[in-house]
Amino acid sequence: MTICENIEIVTKRINAAKMRADRTDEVNLIAVSKRQSADKIREGIESGIRMFGENRVQEAAMKWGDLKKVYPNTELHLIGALQTNKVKEAVQLFDVIQTLDRPKLVNALAQEMERAEKRIPCFIQVNSGKELQKSGVMPEDVAQLVSYAKERHVDVVGLMCIPPVDQSPEPYFADMQRMGASLKLPCLSMGMSGDYETAITYGATHIRVGTAIFGEREE
Ligand SMILES: *Cc1c(COP(=O)(O)O)cnc(C)c1O
Repeated sequence: MTICENIEIVTKRINAAKMRADRTDEVNLIAVSKRQSADKIREGIESGIRMFGENRVQEAAMKWGDLKKVYPNTELHLIGALQTNKVKEAVQLFDVIQTLDRPKLVNALAQEMERAEKRIPCFIQVNSGKELQKSGVMPEDVAQLVSYAKERHVDVVGLMCIPPVDQSPEPYFADMQRMGASLKLPCLSMGMSGDYETAITYGATHIRVGTAIFGEREE
C-alpha cells in the first residue's frame, strides 16, 4: 500500500464512523510522522494531508525546518512531552501544543509566547488511565489546570489523551467527552491507528494516526 492509498482508506473510515455517529462537524486527521522520513512526509502532504504530529522537539526541528519552508500551510502539532528547556524551540516550530500538563509548563509557555509574540493553541494532556509512567494531568486536576492556563492567557482549546494500551479505550474516551463538555472546551484529541473510529463515536475532533498512514516507524 502507498501512503496515498492508506490516506484514502483512513479517510473513508473516518467518514463512515462520522455517519454512524451522526456527526456532520469536522474530524481533523493529524498524520503522526514521528520516526518517519521527510520523503514519506512529503508524500503525505502531496496526498492532501495538512496536519502533522511529532513527539520530539529535536527530531521535529531537524525534519520540519526545511519542510515548513516548502509547505508553509502545514500545521505541526506537538504530541509528546515538553520539557521547559525546550519551550523556546517548541514555540518557534509548532502551531499547536497538545501536551500541556503542569503549571510550570503553563508559566514557561505563557512567558515565551508573550516574548515571541506568538499565541499557540494548546490542549491539556489528561492522564486518563491514571498510569504512573505516563505524563498528563490527573483527571481530577484538569479543571484547575485549565483555569490556571486561562488566567495566564494561554489559549486552551481542548483535551488530549492516550488511554491505557491493554484495555478498551471506550470508558476513557467517554470520560474525556464528559470532561470536555463540562469545561466547555471545543476540541478533543483522541484516537490513534487502532481506535480512531471508536474515538470519533465519543466526539473526537482531532485524531492522531501514525502507522495506518505511514507504515511501521523507523527504530
Ligand atoms: C505515536 C503516537 C500516535 C500514533 O500512533 P499510531 O498507533 O502509530 O497511530 C498518536 N498519538 C501519540 C501521542 C503518539 O505518540
